[in-house]
Amino acid sequence: MLMEFGTPAPKKEVVVIGAGFGGLACARKLRKSSAYRVTLIDRNPYQLFSPLLYQVATASLPEDDIAFPVRTAYREVQFIRAEVTNIDTEAKCITLNNGKTMAYDDLVLAVGSEGTTFGIPGVAEHTLQMKSVGDARAIRTSLLRNYESVEDGLLPIESLNVVIVGGGPTGVELAGAVRELQGEIKREFEHLAPKATVTLLEAGPRLLPTFQPSSSEHARNALTKMGVDVRVDAAVVEATPTSLRLKDGSELVAGTRIWAAGVVAPPRWKVLGDTERGNRIKVNPYLQLNDSTWIVGDVASFAGTDGRPLPMIAPVAIQQGRHVARQLVRRERGERFESFTYRDKGQMATIGRRKAVVEVRPWLRFNGTLAWLTWLALHLAYLSGGRNRTSIFADWIWNYLVWTPRRTIVD
Ligand SMILES: Cc1cc2nc3c(=O)[nH]c(=O)nc-3n(C[C@H](O)[C@H](O)[C@H](O)COP(=O)(O)OP(=O)(O)OC[C@H]3O[C@@H](n4cnc5c(N)ncnc54)[C@H](O)[C@@H]3O)c2cc1C
Repeated sequence: MLMEFGTPAPKKEVVVIGAGFGGLACARKLRKSSAYRVTLIDRNPYQLFSPLLYQVATASLPEDDIAFPVRTAYREVQFIRAEVTNIDTEAKCITLNNGKTMAYDDLVLAVGSEGTTFGIPGVAEHTLQMKSVGDARAIRTSLLRNYESVEDGLLPIESLNVVIVGGGPTGVELAGAVRELQGEIKREFEHLAPKATVTLLEAGPRLLPTFQPSSSEHARNALTKMGVDVRVDAAVVEATPTSLRLKDGSELVAGTRIWAAGVVAPPRWKVLGDTERGNRIKVNPYLQLNDSTWIVGDVASFAGTDGRPLPMIAPVAIQQGRHVARQLVRRERGERFESFTYRDKGQMATIGRRKAVVEVRPWLRFNGTLAWLTWLALHLAYLSGGRNRTSIFADWIWNYLVWTPRRTIVD
């Protein structure tokens, strides 16, 4: 296009799909760019802080605290609330669920992941997942409401049992928090509370499989001490409306059955390119699928230094989102792209109050109160929005110092 002397070139349109950890990190970094106009699209008007979903599910935090409103977060970024239903990378155009189409110069796909049931019969119908605010609300309602229903004689006493499937960080955190909630409920349902149980099932040989074996052992011992029935090598083969059936033929009857095992990238986007196990799309060293399509976070398959795809965790998504923003700026300056390198800062999981495991490096790991305080501090630091941070900090002070968790009224 011929430009008049002194007329600035029009900004290029960058469309970011997904206002989660990766998409938001990219949009935030690019928002002040003089070369790009950023449009952020998400089906929800908030960024969900998934690491604390389990605290909403167990009535420790109100749901607003972990949902960061993105519509007005960045003045320079246009936000559209919609579901993207189609991407045409040749025509550089996307389609929204309202039928509208949108052209772009560059696309950043940051749509995250979803739960998978591995096709096990009954799991989709008879277990609760924990991926969204609605899911956490449903778990909380089941956990609390069952006490009232049992008291009223509407449900059998086994309905107070909780079974959690999946011994990764989410399952471990949830199991500890549910056990603590059951302890608190003693004040309200003194005669029923001792009957409530929590069972944590893991199909593999140990909890926290990505951690060092000693951390797995620590988590197992700590949960067992809290009264959680931890079972490893315990694969679920079927879910029924009242129970879970295991490979060894046993059956666990429980009123709340939570599925915290396995996530995959949304299968809808498999058509875009080569994928690996879990529907994750393979990208080049710069996180590109092609010249104008960038993929970050859970949906991207990018090998780490050990040759295995990077884990589906928030720090990977954040670093990748920022990396893409940097490459777009470099391109405008006529500079060459840089390959993405993940800076691994370690992993952590909380087990309960004053109980957590932290692994900075395989040889630098700790647990107990120090690990728990580290976990609290890092989660506060990663939260978006000063208001959410302050509110959660206040809730935690109340919950952990006064020792009575906030309990949400369930109607
Ligand atoms: C219960 C739970 C606990 C977790 N705990 C931890 C933890 O402790 N530490 C950790 O590091 N990681 C944790 N994770 C993983 C972490 O949340 C993810 O790795 C991270 O969110 C990935 O970031 P992302 O940007 O790829 O996707 P997300 O943050 O999930 O964002 C994806 C966004 O895309 C939107 N979207 C999806 N499809 C469409 C569409 N078609 N149209 C419009 N919008 C769309 C979604 O609404 C969402 O807002 C946890 C995950 C869960 C579910």
